[in-house]
Amino acid sequence: MNPWLALKDEVSGLLDFLFPPVCPLCGVAGAVAGGDSFCRGCLAGFSPLASPCCPICALPFEGPAGSDHHCGGCLSEPPPFIRVTALGIYQGTLAEAVRDLKYREGFHLGRPLGRLLAALLAGRRGERPFGLLVPVPLHGERLKERTYNQAQLLAEAIGRHLAVPVASELLRRTRSTPPQQGLSASERLRNLKGAFALRKGLDGERVVLVDDVLTTGATARECSRVLLKGGAAEVEVAVVARAARHL
Ligand SMILES: [Zn+2]
Ligand SMILES: [Zn+2]
Repeated sequence: MNPWLALKDEVSGLLDFLFPPVCPLCGVAGAVAGGDSFCRGCLAGFSPLASPCCPICALPFEGPAGSDHHCGGCLSEPPPFIRVTALGIYQGTLAEAVRDLKYREGFHLGRPLGRLLAALLAGRRGERPFGLLVPVPLHGERLKERTYNQAQLLAEAIGRHLAVPVASELLRRTRSTPPQQGLSASERLRNLKGAFALRKGLDGERVVLVDDVLTTGATARECSRVLLKGGAAEVEVAVVARAARHL
């Protein structure tokens, strides 16, 4: 069984009252059993990140389950973040949800996607609780065009569900960067060098950096580096979708 369907069954009773009976992604009314967030059809189209994948950046591999190993990128240059949590692979209905959230004024998707991410993160909180959610910021010009920051919507939804504070203004873009599409991982990192700064220092907090999608991880690396330099004890990353280029 698709684990998202299992999770849906598990939490739907508890969270019924929070969600309207229309699927926020496909808009089909009545398809949302128990007033849950996404309908079964859309949830079934989310491809969860399954083993084998990289234990740090969550890059999925082809091969038998259980053969997790570090990817080439994490081996040659270990990232500053400890791991990546993602709802699934950037494909199917999950990719559609990310594109809607980002480009098609789908700000109403921030809440249900954030709730699913919160459930994943909550399962791990027993290990060592994190104390702060930090969304990846948009540059002022892009924020003006788009009117909202999708990463902030996700962080706020996670924060509400887990009662963890969101530091929306902590990380800021110091300059607008050219689009990352079509650039290699190292070009992306160069493109982002010095593009982020902290408004104030941190005091040993465990931070969850929140974004919509992780592709090469260049943005997550640069933001994590800045957060650690500014006093964070540890940074992990939570995204809606993990892009896997070979799939
Ligand atoms: Zn749907
Ligand atoms: Zn990796």
